[in-house]
Amino acid sequence: MTIDNLPTRIQHWIGGELLDSADGRLFDVADPVTNTPYAQAARGSQADIDRAVAAAGNAFPGWKGISNRERANTLNRIADAVEARHEQLARFESFDSGLPITQAKGQAKRAAENFRYFADVIVALGEEAFRQADSQFSYVVRSPVGVAGLITPWNTPFMLESWKLAPAIASGCTLVLKPAEWTPLSASLWHEIFAEAGLPAGVVNIVHGVGEEAGQALVDHPDVPRISFTGSTSTGRHILRSSADHLKAASMELGGKSPVVVFADADLDAALDSVVFGVFSLNGERCTAGSRVLVERAVYDDFTQRLARRAEQVKVGPPADPATEVGALVHPDHYQRVLDYVDIGRKEGTLIAGGTRPAHLPDGNYLQPTVFADVTQDARIFQEEIFGPVVAVAPFDTETEAITLANATQYGLAAYIWTSNLQRGHRLAHAVESGMVWINSHNVRDLRTPFGGVKASGVGREGGAHSVDFYTESKIVHVAMGHVHTPKFGGGTS
Ligand code: NAD
Repeated sequence: MTIDNLPTRIQHWIGGELLDSADGRLFDVADPVTNTPYAQAARGSQADIDRAVAAAGNAFPGWKGISNRERANTLNRIADAVEARHEQLARFESFDSGLPITQAKGQAKRAAENFRYFADVIVALGEEAFRQADSQFSYVVRSPVGVAGLITPWNTPFMLESWKLAPAIASGCTLVLKPAEWTPLSASLWHEIFAEAGLPAGVVNIVHGVGEEAGQALVDHPDVPRISFTGSTSTGRHILRSSADHLKAASMELGGKSPVVVFADADLDAALDSVVFGVFSLNGERCTAGSRVLVERAVYDDFTQRLARRAEQVKVGPPADPATEVGALVHPDHYQRVLDYVDIGRKEGTLIAGGTRPAHLPDGNYLQPTVFADVTQDARIFQEEIFGPVVAVAPFDTETEAITLANATQYGLAAYIWTSNLQRGHRLAHAVESGMVWINSHNVRDLRTPFGGVKASGVGREGGAHSVDFYTESKIVHVAMGHVHTPKFGGGTS
């Protein structure tokens, strides 16, 4: 199927102009249902990144120079423009990435909220001041760092782009965004949105292309002092190494293998709903997916069987169908990778649901939600991020064992704990190694709270003041309010 207003050519947006690559190169972009190209996108290289960074550099003094209130007004207009297009954005996102349309609509709305939220943050931002005794007063001035580089992945692409764009623009930075090459379609609407909101040319520049070319050129550019990256742990490691050469700060939001710990005393119906939604929504292509479910042995068999039945009932179907709960995985390469993990899982655990393409969907990157039981800690499907609708389940006997299993991977992004014993819930929350923990709750977020992971799941936090910190430098100014006694060298003045 095709959709209205689908472009056949996706261009860079540099200095307020839609442009092809300097060398004219293109790459094919396909949808995950037909896996046939619907468009060609400009394939950016060093020359395009140079043009974009120069445009951002030219726009920087003007954008930095206006008040936080004026920037906030622009952010609110951007949010209006996103909201006005949220149906189209959701259709584009669903078509390009395979996300179910109902879930893509939620993501488009969240993108608008991100702009409104950072508009509020930047208006409320005060300066810190310190008074030292009676004689000296010190205050902090905060300045945008300059041109920021934003690099984003293909899962929920538009929302994740907004999550980085909003704080960077609010902080007074100008920037170059490199969207994920598998899903450039929704990003092709940003220029309309920014133009309608009156964002000056050059504040945001978008260069499409593959990671090793356009992405790497952005990371290596000497005039880009910050890189905000969301993507896989292996790419994150590589970018951190490159950033070290240029001594640039880099924020890393990386992969996960998040545990859901279910105790026998939990509200097991609610826990089951949360497990099913947490690992299968967004096609399981969610960084915070609860992809390892650890269940107390007393309820293990029953809970695991119920999970399997629920997985079988999940409606897998075309992304554009409003009844679809799991759509098509983003790309044939990724689909194959997930299928390979299913094959590995057959040897490592007990397949109790899914594992195959649904019979009614002969084409497209579809997988029935898949549950493996009795998975041990050393299994690859326990250790490695699959990033699809696949969950590994394991039993535990004691609280100590639950903590050990929860912490037994390289990752530490999110954790979910289900128990009616709140003391135990808090004990677990403190003991698990992760940046975020939900007790008797699923992945609901307050935008003021820090988002990010520990261990191989990331470096730094996004959200609220954390994001503004990243895009600004603080400078301390000390001023004497009266006489300050200065130590004297060489006997002092005569
Ligand atoms: P990826 O690392 O392959 O690619 C992410 C982006 O980096 C893409 O735009 C890509 O073009 C670019 N890139 C690749 N190589 C590069 C290089 N050498 N230099 C600069 N840029 C380069 O990740 P992906 O497969 O697109 O995304 C899935 C991953 O993202 C999963 O691991 C998922 O957990 C993670 N993720 C994390 C969060 C979070 O907030 N922690 C959120 C969403 C996704």
